[in-house]
Amino acid sequence: MGSLGKYSFGTGDRYGKEGKAQLEAILKMQKDGVKVTPVWNKSNREHETVGTKPDTVRKEADKVVKELNFTRDYLVDADHINLKTVAPYIPVSDFFTIDVADFIGKAANEDEKQEFLNFFEKYTSEFQITGIDRTIEISQDQLDKMLDDFLLAMKKAGEVYQKISSGKTGKFYTEVSIDEVKNPQSPVELFFILAALSFYKVPINTIAPKFTGAFNKGVDYRGDLKQFEKEFKEDLLVLKYAIKEFDFPSNLKLSLHSGSDKFSIYPIINNLIHKHDSGLHLKTAGTTWLEELIGLAESEGEAYEFAKQIYTGALERYDELTKDYVSVLDIDKDKLPKVEIFSSGKDFANALRHEENSNNYNPHFRQLLHCAYKIAAEEGNRFFDLLEKYRDKIEENVTYNLYERHLKPLFL
Ligand SMILES: [Zn+2]
Repeated sequence: MGSLGKYSFGTGDRYGKEGKAQLEAILKMQKDGVKVTPVWNKSNREHETVGTKPDTVRKEADKVVKELNFTRDYLVDADHINLKTVAPYIPVSDFFTIDVADFIGKAANEDEKQEFLNFFEKYTSEFQITGIDRTIEISQDQLDKMLDDFLLAMKKAGEVYQKISSGKTGKFYTEVSIDEVKNPQSPVELFFILAALSFYKVPINTIAPKFTGAFNKGVDYRGDLKQFEKEFKEDLLVLKYAIKEFDFPSNLKLSLHSGSDKFSIYPIINNLIHKHDSGLHLKTAGTTWLEELIGLAESEGEAYEFAKQIYTGALERYDELTKDYVSVLDIDKDKLPKVEIFSSGKDFANALRHEENSNNYNPHFRQLLHCAYKIAAEEGNRFFDLLEKYRDKIEENVTYNLYERHLKPLFL
């Protein structure tokens, strides 16, 4: 068990084989003088797709921490869990991401609303948030809408929190996520949500709102960078204000579920968290799986054949593989390459590797393969044997990707 710290970084690892290479990236940051707490995260959905159990993530984390003599804190995140799915995570996780997206937009009953309004009354007339250069004034319409949109969901978060805290001995961290919904939440809505979490006594450490713009899986951010910057800055200030107004831990911070690779907003975030002396938790998604595939392709021969086979399978099973991700994908099927166009594994790897400025990079190809991890899991030992046999190339890619493309631009 450890402390979350100011900066923390959630790395997914579909198959639990890259923990060491991931931790190497954290150690490189440490050498650069920046402490980042590693958090291994795997969503319940991912466990179901791959057929793994929650304790495997804990085992992986404990094992690699020992192997690399990592003496700092690290955590294991039960990612996107709810009241129905949380139980098996309670003994093995010490970070819980409570997902209440399903209840957003479902109204609480009138008594509940009235009780909350008594608590929230102070904020129904004009107020100021330090650093935000306009007065906050919540109109009656806006208030009614927020009550209908968010109050019940935060009550549900409280129920999950209670279940965890009554089942768990020892310290744990709590996140509430509302990122997997249709509409982004404005800074004022974030404030309302925090008030509701305080009302229901959910002492969150991190909160994952949905930010403005598109956060598609494995590809860069798409949206208005200026607008993102404004909202992110205001969200940071809202959090600082909420810490003072309500009963939250003093290190409450934003959590960004990036879906990986939001490279164009990383410099903005870096600048703002330093300027406002704020912490940050960032989650990457299955980016490590894609680095495994890149490493295999680059190794040529049988390993490249395997990578091609995954892609061929993914084309055939397109609908099945993408169905859970439709809202976070932007694939133009016409731009998916035929497997025959690749002249080598290197060629395949260059199309997959996320280098925005490379002519070879194909975001459609990358997004589809992002969803194709299930096919590798079905191959079982054949896949795992290849991962071991071509480990050097794979680890080199995993570490480089996390350190150079993610950690350095975000925190250094
Ligand atoms: Zn998420």
